[in-house]
Amino acid sequence: MAFQDPSHSSVCGSLFGGPDLGPKFFCIAANNAATAGSSTGLGTASGSSGPAAQAGGPRHPAALGGGPGGGATAPQQHNKLASETPSPADMEPDRPIGYGAFGVVWSVTDPRDGKRVALKKMPNVFQNLVSCKRVFRELKMLCFFKHDNVLSALDILQPPQIDCFEEIYVITELMQSDLHKVIVSPQPLSTDHIKVFLYQILRGLKYLHSAGILHRDIKPGNLLVNSNCVLKICDFGLARVEELDESRHMTQEVVTQYYRAPEILTGSRHYSSAIDVWSVGCIFAELLGRRILFQAQSPIQQLDLITDLLGTPPLSAMLSACEGARAHILRGPHKPPSLSVLYMLSDGATHEAVHLLCRMLVFDPCKRISGRDALSHPYLDEGRLRYHTCMCRCCFTVASGRVYTRDFEPVASGRFDDQYEKTLTSVWQVKELIHRFITEHQQGKRVPLCINPQSAAFKTFIRSTAWHSSKVSKKEER
Ligand SMILES: [Zn+2]
Repeated sequence: MAFQDPSHSSVCGSLFGGPDLGPKFFCIAANNAATAGSSTGLGTASGSSGPAAQAGGPRHPAALGGGPGGGATAPQQHNKLASETPSPADMEPDRPIGYGAFGVVWSVTDPRDGKRVALKKMPNVFQNLVSCKRVFRELKMLCFFKHDNVLSALDILQPPQIDCFEEIYVITELMQSDLHKVIVSPQPLSTDHIKVFLYQILRGLKYLHSAGILHRDIKPGNLLVNSNCVLKICDFGLARVEELDESRHMTQEVVTQYYRAPEILTGSRHYSSAIDVWSVGCIFAELLGRRILFQAQSPIQQLDLITDLLGTPPLSAMLSACEGARAHILRGPHKPPSLSVLYMLSDGATHEAVHLLCRMLVFDPCKRISGRDALSHPYLDEGRLRYHTCMCRCCFTVASGRVYTRDFEPVASGRFDDQYEKTLTSVWQVKELIHRFITEHQQGKRVPLCINPQSAAFKTFIRSTAWHSSKVSKKEER
């Protein structure tokens, strides 16, 4: 099935199309076009008051516990929104929810089951070989992940035949907010919240690192959260497999500056999963203090702020630094460490919290704690207990009590294999491989979904993605 036949789509306002989907929600209006928009909430292609009109600006997802009387409460049993199928009348229109570095995300209704899901358009996929490879890698990773604290692909939309194949759309679970929005909101953040968030970040990170994957852009905006405090790591646009050969150079154009590890700031040509742990340390401090820990204007100033806190590093911690960075540090005055200021972040900065924080914020990546070992720190015991008592999907409750899983922090079933990348040589070849990958991925699973290109929502979606793409490419030109 390629793009939907327009004759079927003129009455459908949802992004999704396709007579194959059956009449359940979508094309419900095929029998009664006049009432399609108003009665189903799916909107119409022609009405100016339909979802397209409402979808004019990005929605700011509800902050944690953002509902009436809400409040960032302790974790609840489960999220009703995610587990119940709404009636058509309850359905929200499709609309944009976020603009990441590598795509635009919309909140849409899956016409197969009525559930709200996130739809991400991966832009500029086939521009050049580098972008093709990056998208293919992200797509493969999203399909590889099987962990509750890592966002994964629920589905990929059916591609058209290869000559018309320009865009890739991925469906993931819809999350309500992200940690950046939570941190800057007036919502109170208790120590319990911080512990359960940090536990889940490290739990997801342990899984990623066990698969040999470096995320390379861990920041609050890439940590999605629900009102029940479940957290998932997302955006794998910069992720890659760990390079075990230390003589191979790795790009330094990674990690948002505030969360960038000192080894990247000092120009190390090779780095490890320790860079992600540094970012988590920065986020931990940000959760405690409700402000960015190292907020500098430039990479050099970023490094200066780090040495202000940690003190001048010993030469042994700068073996992989480039000459210029080492000279810059040694040229300046010798700085003593001032880690005691971490106690002033907030009342939650207890001895235990600061102890763990200081194990993550270590200048020398070889001496920095690993994600796996950080999980053994006593600070996280309560977070683990809370998560597995009422938030996780690996433990369950029976009449006699809670039955806990045998492995609280599971690792990946194997390493993510990126050997295929060595054989990729042309845009067309990768295009064919991606096309085949998506088609094979879908086989025999669910009714395939495709975009309804005639819908008003789709037109708005395309406008928003085009606007975003032009902004991104302008940025890249600089
Ligand atoms: Zn559990």
